[in-house]
Amino acid sequence: MTAESADVVVCGAGVGGLAAACALGARGLRVLLLEKRPKPVPVAKGEVLQPSSIQILREWGVLPRLEERGAVPLDRLVIREADGRRVMVFDYAALAGQRHLLSHDHGEILGALADSLGDGVRWRRGALVRDLLRDGSGRICGVVVDEDGRGVEVRAPLVVAADGLSSRLRRLAGISAEPVEYPHRLASFELTGGPELPAEVSSYLTDRGLRLLYPLPGGRIRLYVQVGADELRGVRKDDLASWCDGVVAGTPALKPLLGVLRDSFGTRQLLKLWRFTADRMAVPGLAMVGEAAHAVHPMAAQGMNTAIADAHTLAGLLGGQSTVDTALDRYQRARAGWVRHIDRMSHDATRMITDTSWAGRLIGRRMLRRTSRNARLRFVATYNMAGLGIRPFTVLDRMHQLGLPDPRAGRIPAWT
Ligand SMILES: Cc1cc2nc3c(=O)[nH]c(=O)nc-3n(C[C@H](O)[C@H](O)[C@H](O)COP(=O)(O)OP(=O)(O)OC[C@H]3O[C@@H](n4cnc5c(N)ncnc54)[C@H](O)[C@@H]3O)c2cc1C
Repeated sequence: MTAESADVVVCGAGVGGLAAACALGARGLRVLLLEKRPKPVPVAKGEVLQPSSIQILREWGVLPRLEERGAVPLDRLVIREADGRRVMVFDYAALAGQRHLLSHDHGEILGALADSLGDGVRWRRGALVRDLLRDGSGRICGVVVDEDGRGVEVRAPLVVAADGLSSRLRRLAGISAEPVEYPHRLASFELTGGPELPAEVSSYLTDRGLRLLYPLPGGRIRLYVQVGADELRGVRKDDLASWCDGVVAGTPALKPLLGVLRDSFGTRQLLKLWRFTADRMAVPGLAMVGEAAHAVHPMAAQGMNTAIADAHTLAGLLGGQSTVDTALDRYQRARAGWVRHIDRMSHDATRMITDTSWAGRLIGRRMLRRTSRNARLRFVATYNMAGLGIRPFTVLDRMHQLGLPDPRAGRIPAWT
């Protein structure tokens, strides 16, 4: 077995691993980034960036590259009735600093991060990280990689596990996690040749659950349709048109898209959705970023953003006088609360919109309408969604969402 060394070895080159390599490389560390796939595989996920990520990507010099690649600025996230009437608006422009969202293909976001890796980052594709190395005290001190049919030992004071939801490194490090699958899936479609959409993410409330829509560069449109686990199984080509008709019949606001939806049926991907938070973000010698450590439903567009924030925090804590393990301890403390907050917020938003039971729909709509009429709650919800800080709703806030009158409803919180 051959051997080599680095300051940091990052395992996995999804958004979490690329963000970590970008941030750690910018700190002057010698980074080795290892990705098992020889070539990227296009997946219809991770396309909407929140303001907090945009801020970080600007700091790293990634933002201009994304803009050059044609990323689309979006002003708001709007929850709408199936016929298009507004139920609630998350108005990002109302936040300090005139914030906005950006949408782009996941592959292009990865590409912009990859183009921003500094000279200190070496990147190898087709390199499967198979095992962890430990020193005499049991501390993690590197990885074993399978590459071109041979084994390579890479020694490094820090291993970053960015190997996604079914993380092998998480398991090898002894960190426990219990991913729970949502009962529905999202069918994604990439529509071309449709009408021009407003600069927003539109989320439609329907009897069959979520329909989510936003513009992508080049006049393309992303549509996600909530489906049952088996809903599209065995649907023959001849039946596809009537399945599309059914989607539009249940969401009349999508009528102008019917033709392009039928034409784009071949672009569909069916995506499973998971929720979990690992019991730790780090152990001596190893930090986890992104879906290796946590996963949320995509409804609130938080997964990729949390991965970017993980990488930013980790890089900010390394260096200076502290040892790697002191920094990892601080990383654990800094991120655990955030990650729990994002999990809770995403899950609450998801329940309000994807629950198709009679009671679930009634309560969800009521909470959304009450939140919409309350300027304070609306602001707090937008602030949280934008990733600008942790301001969870209190028990009292939840009661206001359910109908309890709120004397502070017209006031934007003082902490802004
Ligand atoms: C339908 C859908 C829509 C979404 N939309 C959004 C959105 O709009 N905004 C948002 O913020 N988030 C969104 N998300 C979530 C977001 O896509 C993920 O949170 C994010 O992509 C996770 O990135 P990651 O790098 O942690 O993991 P991954 O993207 O899974 O990357 C892990 C990488 O590690 C590699 N790897 C795995 N094992 C090994 C190994 N042993 N050795 C070497 N390499 C390995 C894999 O090949 C892969 O490239 C969405 C998710 C879904 C499902």
